[in-house]
Amino acid sequence: MYIRPFDPWKSKLCTCPFKYTLNPYTGCDHACVYCYITSYIPKAFRVRVKDNLLPSLERELREFDKRFIIAMSYSSDPYPTIEKELGITRRVLELFKRYDIRCLLLTKSDIFERDIDLLSELRCAVGITVTTIDERKAKLLEPNAPPPKGRIRALKRAKKAGIPVYARIDPIIPFYTWEDFEETLDALDFVSHITVSTLKLRPDIRARMRAKFPELMKILEPLYTEKYEGYYYLRRDIRLQILEKARRLIEDRGITFGSCREGYYSHPTCDGSHLVP
Ligand code: SF4
Repeated sequence: MYIRPFDPWKSKLCTCPFKYTLNPYTGCDHACVYCYITSYIPKAFRVRVKDNLLPSLERELREFDKRFIIAMSYSSDPYPTIEKELGITRRVLELFKRYDIRCLLLTKSDIFERDIDLLSELRCAVGITVTTIDERKAKLLEPNAPPPKGRIRALKRAKKAGIPVYARIDPIIPFYTWEDFEETLDALDFVSHITVSTLKLRPDIRARMRAKFPELMKILEPLYTEKYEGYYYLRRDIRLQILEKARRLIEDRGITFGSCREGYYSHPTCDGSHLVP
């Protein structure tokens, strides 16, 4: 089965409305330093094509309950570099159109610009993740992902084409991306919904962060004192201060606010799924 219920580790902190998820590829070559898939997908930063994906998916879609949403993708990006050449995600979207599937797309790439024609004919909302508008920091954090400005340009075009659009600012890294949060927000002020999440640490993430940002980690690590479900979280008072300020800044711009795995407020949904027609 390629379509699976979305239930990330049965987390008590996950407030997502029930939905399904589909990953057109295994692995993701954006190679984000803070990526959590390295803890459960071997060779996670190498993209692999799935066996027999399209015929199997078509069989599954014939039986699929159309009330539910399929989110793409939560364990890989639906637009890795190789998608330009292979067009597998585009073919998945063509199947979604044929079977009238409701879809929530999330990417850190601008390749989806190619598919705006198709996306505008689907019952679909499109989102991008932008951790920071600072190109230099983004390159360090997400070495192989297209620059944030390209993602934003593509999302503006999607909005112009009538597609509901949203964004994630995730993860927020104190003393780093949090420093340019307002500028990032200004660049995203045309979206309908923004979901935020603070950086969470696991051993693999911690090791990559230490290697790349030794000085930053000297300040950050002592603040990661709370453990929930295998992840270290920022000290609660600091985390809530960040979330409250982020919420105020987002809502002041007339954008709805969501938070992901924080045990904090979201409205109308944490993940932007209310935007899917
Ligand atoms: S885009 Fe997402 S799945 Fe891909 S490397 Fe970055 S965090 Fe991991």
